[in-house]
Amino acid sequence: MALIVQKFGGTSVGTVERIQQVAEKVKKFRENGDDIVVVVSAMSGETNRLVELAKQASDDQPVPRELDVMLSTGEQVTIALLTMALIRRGVPAVSYTGNQVRILTDSAHNKARILQIDDQKLRADLKAGRVVVVAGFQGVDEHGNITTLGRGGSDTTGVALAAALKADECQIYTDVDGVYTTDPRVVPQAQRLEKITFEEMLEMASLGSKVLQIRSVEFAGKYNVPLRVLHSFKEGPGTLITIDEEESMEQPIISGIAFNRDEAKLTIRGVPDIPGVAFKILGPVSAANIEVDMIVQNVAHDNTTDFTFTVHRNDYQAAQQVLENTARELGAREVIGDIKIAKVSIVGVGMRSHAGVASRMFEALAKENINIQMISTSEIKVSVVIEEKYLELAVRALHTAFELDAPARQGD
Ligand code: ADP
Ligand code: ASP
Ligand code: MG
Repeated sequence: MALIVQKFGGTSVGTVERIQQVAEKVKKFRENGDDIVVVVSAMSGETNRLVELAKQASDDQPVPRELDVMLSTGEQVTIALLTMALIRRGVPAVSYTGNQVRILTDSAHNKARILQIDDQKLRADLKAGRVVVVAGFQGVDEHGNITTLGRGGSDTTGVALAAALKADECQIYTDVDGVYTTDPRVVPQAQRLEKITFEEMLEMASLGSKVLQIRSVEFAGKYNVPLRVLHSFKEGPGTLITIDEEESMEQPIISGIAFNRDEAKLTIRGVPDIPGVAFKILGPVSAANIEVDMIVQNVAHDNTTDFTFTVHRNDYQAAQQVLENTARELGAREVIGDIKIAKVSIVGVGMRSHAGVASRMFEALAKENINIQMISTSEIKVSVVIEEKYLELAVRALHTAFELDAPARQGD
């Protein structure tokens, strides 16, 4: 008998009919004798709807604490509906909000981190033969305030519960049948990966593949939770996220391609090229709590430098204001910005043992006449910033160049 944590995402619980299907599925596992903890998201679209309402009520600036009070209701609805559907099928079940379990988080509203999970109540219910249905994406801080874990946070609830309960597996059920070489919505030739390492999955998630929330992968890696991504309603092995690098080495050099439209670029031009200038530019940015991603500095002939960096699009305006002040202080020529950029990254542990991967990437982009604005590399990834309008073309070209396209089926 195994203990399994199963997380069902928004589309999988998007209608009452689908919730009935999920209940059928959980019932089958239960009949196999497994202990089951289910984590559910809000019905698809619900969290967006609530965010919109909050914006309307607050001139686009919802108070973070109150936003959490509201957003947590989405998941509260689905846990109750699923539990009702289970009980209706003769499966003993009980639902809990994050607060009721006691999923303790820090107080960083809208992006809280899980600190501790009280597993006692859950264990008692499992022992009594009940399926436990837990609301994803939410917790409670030490003062009793409701918190949420950031968009896509139900994945993290699932993995954190699996870690706390030392579950045999955490299964993430969604609307694709696994992790693909890239988003199958953009590249229809993308292929499902049998396995991917935690390290690669972490890069993919942080570089924009939203199939798993970044923190869920961090958690799974840290606590060694066996993690699998599967389709909610189609049978299949899905994708296993594994620590085992050896077998993945058999795979191509590149495991996947990730992309991200959420960044914006800022350049401060004509800054005196003297020691400490990078700190003078980025110090105030970080003091404003704005995270910087890629950085490039070009030195001109006249002893000045152009300094460019990217930030999340949500931080663009704040970063621009900070930079305008810095420009005045340093006597810089001007500040320019661009939000129509996108980041494309290739990821793979195979890069460690192969040379020339970056140049192969640049060649593929050059063939499509796509200009590279910025580059950054690490041991297992290469990222470039390009004009946003070329994003899909770039992803497709790279997918082909690194031989990731699925073989054409007969008749295609
Ligand atoms: P859920 O609501 O179940 O949490 P998400 O929408 O968060 O589902 O995640 C699933 C989606 O992630 C897929 O529909 C797919 O379009 C997208 N996606 C992005 N990159 C990948 C990838 N590399 N492999 C699979 N799916 C991906
Ligand atoms: N409902 C939340 C969201 O839409 C959490 C989740 O679905 O994982 O982001
Ligand atoms: Mg998700």
